[in-house]
Amino acid sequence: MSLQLLRGRDLKPPLRALHDKPRDSRGTPAEEATQLPSIGPKPRKAALRFPVSAEARDFYQRFYPGTSAADWNDWHWQFRARIRSLADLSRVFVLSEDERAAVGRHEGPLPVGITPYYASLMGRDDPAEPLRRTHIMTRDEYVRLPGEADDPLGEDHDTVVPGLVHRYPDRVLFLTTGTCSTYCRYCTRSRLVGNPGGEYQFSTRQWERALAYLEAHTEIRDVLLSGGDPLSIGDDKLDWLLGRLRAIKHIEFLRIGTKIPVVLPQRITKSLAKMLKKHHPLWMSIHFTHPRELTPEVTESTARLADAGIPLGSQTVLLKGINDDAAVMKPLMHGLLARRVKPYYLYQCDPIRGSGHFRTSVEKGIEIIRALRGHTTGYASPSFCVDAPGGGGKILIAPDSIVGRDGDDLLLRNFEGKIYRYPDPGGTLGMKDPERAVS
Ligand code: SF4
Repeated sequence: MSLQLLRGRDLKPPLRALHDKPRDSRGTPAEEATQLPSIGPKPRKAALRFPVSAEARDFYQRFYPGTSAADWNDWHWQFRARIRSLADLSRVFVLSEDERAAVGRHEGPLPVGITPYYASLMGRDDPAEPLRRTHIMTRDEYVRLPGEADDPLGEDHDTVVPGLVHRYPDRVLFLTTGTCSTYCRYCTRSRLVGNPGGEYQFSTRQWERALAYLEAHTEIRDVLLSGGDPLSIGDDKLDWLLGRLRAIKHIEFLRIGTKIPVVLPQRITKSLAKMLKKHHPLWMSIHFTHPRELTPEVTESTARLADAGIPLGSQTVLLKGINDDAAVMKPLMHGLLARRVKPYYLYQCDPIRGSGHFRTSVEKGIEIIRALRGHTTGYASPSFCVDAPGGGGKILIAPDSIVGRDGDDLLLRNFEGKIYRYPDPGGTLGMKDPERAVS
């Protein structure tokens, strides 16, 4: 269907409201509740066509006995079976005293949440294993360092209606849901994700307010759907929302920010890919952390998205002791390219409250970019950036290639650190005081 035809359609909301899910005694949607999964009525053939690595099979046979490949590959099963509590964690992991104490005292948003699939990639006996560190809290999370804040990027300040952040002139951030399939301990939106009964309960009514704002603001041409994770929303509701956005004539470009293709690759069903394809131009930024994530399952999820014509880019947060090493970052970037994902951003870890143990110096990011740029395929080098606290937006940081000027020659440093001259008559770049030179 053409974009024009779609825009002319009178789109109706999904039949079920977003907040009509059954809830447990704490007000948590049932799909958020900690419970062992109930197995669906009939295994679906489609689920059997998704790859299961040997490690994953060993894992579910050991920790989820009786589970079939069809259950394991059913994203609803994965979602319901998420590891959500100390008891769930203890069943799978040999927890350290530090982890046990930290999980035991946690309350509020950013709970523990790990899909069984993602848990199968983690070191069960090793608290220092990289993926495990990103998802199981330690007592460091309760230490607040100077400069840290709950909302360091000042998103709440730029929130124009609940869930809609309008900071840049022509684009907005649409926080579609507070739910993720897994909860990363360094999350920029730790204040509002996975918060049962809290202030960020998303609903169709809230979406309608955001849509009304977008319809009224003709300067907005680009909408980034994030959250939470937009792909945690069911196909029908997401289709409806994308359709409503597509029906707004001045919106040219839609993006989805998600981690689901990595932590719940089974969610990328063929029907989801087909639905997303209707809403082009649609781009996707996928949150990757470590080469251990590059499994056969992730090869399949990214292939389905790429085959649906969705340009894929990666976003990676630089994390101390996890991926702050070119020997880790390079295979990750190469693996992404091989899966048709363009390494897009490498982020300095935001100063979220309790994230100091994850943060490296900014210099470390430059060191990694220096190790990539020129030393491997240009497409494999992401842009390194700091999201400026206080709402300053993204600031790109690059190794300094401009050395100075010698007359008409600009002096440049290449990837090997060698200095080269570039003829640039009349230029002022590289002068110590270009203002004076011009006068
Ligand atoms: S998936 Fe994204 S939004 Fe969800 S906890 Fe991780 S970083 Fe935060």
